[in-house]
Amino acid sequence: MKFIVCPSCGEEIVIKDLYEGVEIQCDLCGSVLLYGEGRFILLDTNEEFDPEDLEKDFSESAEEPEDEFDDIDYEEYDDFYGE
Ligand SMILES: [Zn+2]
Repeated sequence: MKFIVCPSCGEEIVIKDLYEGVEIQCDLCGSVLLYGEGRFILLDTNEEFDPEDLEKDFSESAEEPEDEFDDIDYEEYDDFYGE
């Protein structure tokens, strides 16, 4: 099995069987990729893609969500001590 990323919408597409002339359809946007002569052709636009460009790089998929905490707990107090 192979995973590629849809060039149209970025959705992950699973390719169970890759052979010359196979058509792979994206479940999300319906784009059809035709595989032939070592490259994918997006049938909507006739754009050609290198399989390497579409293959998902799993080494980069381990993204750490960056949460920014704006809730810094300042100790706010006013100086109006009437002593
Ligand atoms: Zn798609």
